[in-house]
Amino acid sequence: MSFTVLLAAPRGFCAGVERAIRTVELALDNRAPGDDQPVYVRHEIVHNKVVVDDLRARGAVFVEDTREIPQGAMAVFSAHGIAPSVREEAAMRGLVTLDATCPLVSRVHAAVLRYAARGYTILFVGHAGHPEVEGVMGEAPARVRLVQTVDDAEQVVVPDSSRVAYATQTTLSMDDVSAIVDTLRRRFPDIVGPQAGDVCYATTNRQEAVQALVEQHGADVVLVLGSPNSSNSNRLREVAESAGARAYLLGTPDELDPRWVAAATRVGVTAGASTPEHLVQGLVRRLEALGADEVQTVETRIEDVFFAPPPMRSRG
Ligand code: SF4
Repeated sequence: MSFTVLLAAPRGFCAGVERAIRTVELALDNRAPGDDQPVYVRHEIVHNKVVVDDLRARGAVFVEDTREIPQGAMAVFSAHGIAPSVREEAAMRGLVTLDATCPLVSRVHAAVLRYAARGYTILFVGHAGHPEVEGVMGEAPARVRLVQTVDDAEQVVVPDSSRVAYATQTTLSMDDVSAIVDTLRRRFPDIVGPQAGDVCYATTNRQEAVQALVEQHGADVVLVLGSPNSSNSNRLREVAESAGARAYLLGTPDELDPRWVAAATRVGVTAGASTPEHLVQGLVRRLEALGADEVQTVETRIEDVFFAPPPMRSRG
């Protein structure tokens, strides 16, 4: 049976991801002739297996702990940001570092530091275990409390309710953030923080776009390309589902199960902020092979954000 493919726009790479990948590429290219030392990257530079495998093939070595990096080596910090303790460990090991933290994540770090310096308790809305959360909380561990759910927001205890601030992970669902922040505002009327949270432009725009696919353009199935550990990709799947579609997260086009689209008339396609466009095009080709006879782009917003990579440094 034939069906229409609706391609969300914007989708895929955001400015922070492009900057982070470019940082590793430049570090690899900038090695002196004859220098075949690897460029170490702490954590996946962005949460996408295809991107990581590609950079690994070009000479990057991915590690989870700075202590795995040899003394004096070149090390890149991932887009998700790091706690100050990681920076200190890297300095102790004499690493030559390049910081690919997204500037929008750095902005959240700076806000947390500012509030902590003024004696505030900071309620950080995010998901435990995500590297962005670990990095932000590491800025002021004694002052930051993690709030993951509305229930947490109902129960969190602070020493002084007149000095409370909040900040949020950049890749959450806008709806989840507003429900949690509304609860915090009700409980702590003096709370301060960014009106709409810190959910970044790319996360917001991709969620709006996928919502439009379902609510305005009638997608009955939505396919989200993204790795299972990609926060913003998981949120896209949830947003599509909340809007009323069946929604699936897949890492590559090969993971598409034909049964997902067998009864569909309009199949929405989007991609998380760390997913390369060639995977989207590969998925479209697979859908065409399964009966898609029309591909339409549904553009809800034009993006023109660009972040320059950090200045390059070299070893020795
Ligand atoms: Fe930066 Fe947002 Fe992209 Fe994360 S998703 S790297 S915060 S622009």
